[in-house]
Amino acid sequence: MSKTVKDYIRTIVDFPHEGILFRDVTTLFADARGFRMAIDQLLNPYAGMRIDKVAGLEARGFILGGAVAHQLSTGFVPIRKKGKLPGRTIAQGYTLEYGEAVMEVHDDALLPGEKVLLVDDLLATGGTAEAGIRLIERLGGEVVGCAFVIDLPDLGGRRKLEAMGMEVHCLCA
Ligand code: 5GP
Repeated sequence: MSKTVKDYIRTIVDFPHEGILFRDVTTLFADARGFRMAIDQLLNPYAGMRIDKVAGLEARGFILGGAVAHQLSTGFVPIRKKGKLPGRTIAQGYTLEYGEAVMEVHDDALLPGEKVLLVDDLLATGGTAEAGIRLIERLGGEVVGCAFVIDLPDLGGRRKLEAMGMEVHCLCA
């Protein structure tokens, strides 16, 4: 049987902490067939839709989002952890499993009314994606879809984003 996207992802036990099963997508990115399959499948639901920009969440969302943007012939907007972007930014805090974090975007990264596809590798609690959505919306952008390779459904991210009115697309769980 031919391999699915999920078959290219490996699980690393006890990373970054004991008791965590980390989904490692570097094995997917490293495989030409797997990587192309993932990008094609991330794009599937959006065929024919107007998308002006792709936004990617640091860091693996940059790799996926860059390839998706290239395929769509759109620009790419990085949403980064605090202090990494060189220009003037706006910031959005969010809650992590232990503590708080902040994501930022350049304040001129979008034009009001632009339609944005948000991309990341994995949806867990949805906190990171929610911060990204808030940043895009604060710049006047409209999030037309949120696309992830992996969904961890027990952590409730999909429910959280759908409750915000988002369209959520995941390739595997
Ligand atoms: P959330 O904010 O939804 O709880 O966590 C999702 C964010 O954490 C994503 O940006 C994702 O890259 C990262 N993340 C959390 N757990 C994993 C994991 O097991 N594997 C990978 N590749 N990323 C993870």
